Parts: sequence; structure tokens; C-alpha cells
Amino acid sequence: MALCVKGTRLTVWLCLGLAMAGCQSAPQSPKARTITISADITLHPLAEGVWVHTTWFDLPDYGRCPANGLLVVDGPEALLIDLPWTNELTATLCDWITRNLKATVQTVIPTHFHQDCMGGLAEAQRRGALSYASDKTIALAWQKGLPVPQVPCRSQTLIRCGTTLVLVTHPGAGHTTDNVIAWLPVQKILFGGCLIKSMDSASLGNTQDGDPAAYPATLRKVQAAYPEARIVVPGHGRWGGPGLIGHTLGLCSERASNPGE
Ligand SMILES: [Zn+2]
Ligand SMILES: [Zn+2]
Repeated sequence: MALCVKGTRLTVWLCLGLAMAGCQSAPQSPKARTITISADITLHPLAEGVWVHTTWFDLPDYGRCPANGLLVVDGPEALLIDLPWTNELTATLCDWITRNLKATVQTVIPTHFHQDCMGGLAEAQRRGALSYASDKTIALAWQKGLPVPQVPCRSQTLIRCGTTLVLVTHPGAGHTTDNVIAWLPVQKILFGGCLIKSMDSASLGNTQDGDPAAYPATLRKVQAAYPEARIVVPGHGRWGGPGLIGHTLGLCSERASNPGE
């Protein structure tokens, strides 16, 4: 009898759960679906097994700044495209993934050498993750005395997380000379990183390690290569559709007409 009651309760909870899961497929405010891991780390689901991770850091002279990356989980394997800003944030995110998603971060892909992409690389490597990066990023990391990614990607490298595919490409210089983008062909998600600006960005931001002259051609290459992109994720701010690439191109023309900015 007691079992029966328990069973009934379980059924009720399952039904409620299913009803709630059903609700989740209806349009919801993005905030409602965001998972808060700590005051400085959130995850937002994009597709089955794919999340945006957003981490916040206090930049001297600038203030609190968010940065985006992707988390891919396929079975017991997890992969991070861009790491959080610091080793501490990376440890918290990796621990949360292990505890809640029962997966271990085995692969990390910093998309250029700046802190918002590889500030947590030492911690990821300490935990045994294998790091892939552009050969240009590896050279810059050596030069600057930063932790060095292990496996060089040249023009295009296909990386797997379980059966999930991630294609890493260096489309040319832009935000930095070493910036790469990551394409998930099945989910049709493009992680543009800091090469791509969010719709509310009014300028290209910091290009002192980049190449403003090459930037537009690099963006046109990205635009031509991924016309079927469903979601485009910028390095900072809100993600959207392929319109973000066009928006960033527009910011290049503004920069060209106001080079002093
Ligand atoms: Zn950067
Ligand atoms: Zn950035």
C-alpha cells in the first residue's frame, strides 16, 4: 500500500515534471531558463547538450564585465569553448558540471589569447583537460608568458566531444590576429567569440591586438561560410542570428570613417 502511494506520488511528480518540461518549449523569457551557478557564473541552454556559459569579472579601469563561452556535454564528456576569466571561476564551473551533469571537462578551446578566453587555462590543464588553440594563439601565449594551449589548430580542425562535432576555423585577423571561431554543424550554432559583436555593441571595442584593415574581409568570409547558422554567439552580450555578423561589419565601416575612435 505504502509503495502504491509512493508510486502514485511519483506519477504525479512525473506528470508535473512533463507538464513543466512541456511549458519550457513555449517561448519564455531568457532569464527564466538561465541557471545561476554563482554570482559570477550562469549557464543558458541553446540546444540539447549545448549551453552558453557567461562569467563576470571586475576589470581594472572598466568594471564588471561579462564574457560568453560554450559548454558542450555528450554523455560523460564535456568540452568548453573559451574558459572563464580566472582559475577560480573555471574550478567552480568544472565542479558544477561534474556534480550536476555527471560529465568531466576533457577538452577546452580558447578562441584567442585574451583573459576572457583563456584566463582559466591553467586550472583546466591541472584537471587533465586537453587544450586546442590556433597555432597563432600558442605562439602568442609563449611570447607573453601565459599558460600555453597544448594542441595547435591550423586553418581548420574538427574536434569531437562524444559524438558532437566542433569545427574550429581561423577565418583571418579581426579582433585579434589569432581569433578563431567554432561551428557546431548539427546544432547550427556558431560561436564567433570576440570577433563578433552583440547587437547592442556600438563599437568594435579593443582592436589593439587585431587588424582593423583585415576585419571586414574576415567577417565576410564568416558570413559566406555559415549562411545556415541558427544561433550566433558573440564574445560579450546577447547572442542572436547571423545578423550579428552584418552588425559587426557595420561597426567596421563606422570605424573606417572615424579611425580616431
Ligand atoms: Zn579579446
Ligand atoms: Zn572579449
